[in-house]
Amino acid sequence: MATAVVIGSGIGGIAAAIRLVVKGYAVTVLEANATFGGKMTQFTLPGGYRFDAGPSLFTLPQLVDDLFTLAGRTPKDYFRYQRLPIVTQYFWQDGTRLTAHANADAFAQEVEDKLGVPQEQLLKHLQKVARLYHATADTFLHKSLHKLGTFLSPDVLKTLPALPELGLTTTMHAANARAFKDPRLVQLLDRYATYNGSDPYQAPGTLNLIPHLEFNIGAYYPEGGIYAIAESLVKLATELGVKFRYNEPVQEIITEGSRTTGVRTNQGTYFAGIVVSNMDVVPTYRKLLPKQPAPEKTLRQPRSSSALIYYWGISRTFPELDLHNIFFSQDYRQEFEHIFQKGTVTHDPTVYVNITSKLTLSDAPAGHENWFVMVNVPHNAGQDWETLIQETRQRVVQKVSQSLGVNLEELITTERVWDPKGIEADTSSFAGALYGSSSNNKMAAFLRHPNFTGKLKGLYFVGGSVHPGGGIPLCLLSAKIATDLVPVVSPNVPA
Ligand code: FAD
Repeated sequence: MATAVVIGSGIGGIAAAIRLVVKGYAVTVLEANATFGGKMTQFTLPGGYRFDAGPSLFTLPQLVDDLFTLAGRTPKDYFRYQRLPIVTQYFWQDGTRLTAHANADAFAQEVEDKLGVPQEQLLKHLQKVARLYHATADTFLHKSLHKLGTFLSPDVLKTLPALPELGLTTTMHAANARAFKDPRLVQLLDRYATYNGSDPYQAPGTLNLIPHLEFNIGAYYPEGGIYAIAESLVKLATELGVKFRYNEPVQEIITEGSRTTGVRTNQGTYFAGIVVSNMDVVPTYRKLLPKQPAPEKTLRQPRSSSALIYYWGISRTFPELDLHNIFFSQDYRQEFEHIFQKGTVTHDPTVYVNITSKLTLSDAPAGHENWFVMVNVPHNAGQDWETLIQETRQRVVQKVSQSLGVNLEELITTERVWDPKGIEADTSSFAGALYGSSSNNKMAAFLRHPNFTGKLKGLYFVGGSVHPGGGIPLCLLSAKIATDLVPVVSPNVPA
């Protein structure tokens, strides 16, 4: 039987394993950690608090459903989710509070009421980004940018007329500041650069298409939290016959001439015609293929931002907070200069608070909440993280306390911290970057590593460090693009 090996069980690796087993391969997933999920893992803290460790915002759930459907299953039998009526609660230091309703009309009304921006302006903007998204997504997100066929496809005919409006020659911030006068709305729209770890003052205006996902398609919450995505897909993969082997890091990708023939782990050798790496592409080349010439220009692309995350048990509930909450900094430009130019953390960071116990009551004891508190920071370049963790913690506590009128420090019952060094150690993500390389360069989409290599037949790449980029939906798409390039052996769709 034709065999395939997947290195790593992050969301991209799990999705690739499912797609390969459906194509008829015998698939083994080799995972360095004791369990699956990579960044999409979970843990509990004393006192009865459960946390999703990494991703918290879920968009394009259809991409998860597609995997169950592909395998002949009914998605709802494995995985359920709900559309959020409110995407985010925003707080500014001038006292402005704004509810970002999922419904575009309600959101535009709120923006008019709270920020004084005429609602037609925002609605027109959201319609424009919807139009541009539909014109470009099939070409840039659903296909390889490194195959001629992509550019000969009829989808390109949809994309070409949209190119002049995509904002490739301007930055996200400049485009938003031109479209809207209110600095708070500009800041809110600039924030979408952080969805792939980029800087709105450098990233091209193209990234302004991201809000389309939240306001036109929707933000979702899986029943049981984000971890349920990985859990339900591993259940499916296991039923289909995929073998998961944990605590078994791959040490080498074996090659013969110009093709891969398998991998070597600390426990043995696995021969396979197809090898899919879900390990970050930089260590894949540096550690698993040290003798192969590496694509240096690609591997040297600047990294995306990373994060400091404080996981706190909180001994009361906050009705004014929702699942997703943002406490903005006063000087956004300075915040990004600190992350991308100075390589450190600003004194006044924007703080993101995610509280899954709002929707999954069992994630915290009654009358308590589980706070995932995140600040965007630079990737790891040897900074003094211990000091930055302590300093930033103080500032976060002070800022949120002031905004909510409480003494937050007194409410924290238990705590854990994840920093860029820890993210790198736990997931092998190069420099602890959350999303591989940043999208600060207008050519970033073309500079990311493809989902295959022309140098080694049989080797494919999936996950956040390769095309089309980081974040759950794009990692799922990377698995589709990579495995679409792999021949079908014998379709295996059990009834
Ligand atoms: P990863 O999660 O990077 O996992 C790779 C796996 O490979 C790991 O399990 C690792 O142990 C394993 N591995 C590595 N090397 C080897 C080896 N040699 N042998 C065997 N196994 C190996 N995305 C969103 O969509 N929404 C969000 O709100 C969001 N927020 C985030 C917040 C944080 C704090 C973090 C960390 C990430 C966030 N992301 C978010 C990004 C998202 O989590 C990632 O893009 C995605 O989960 C990455 O998946 P991946 O397939 O690249 O694999």
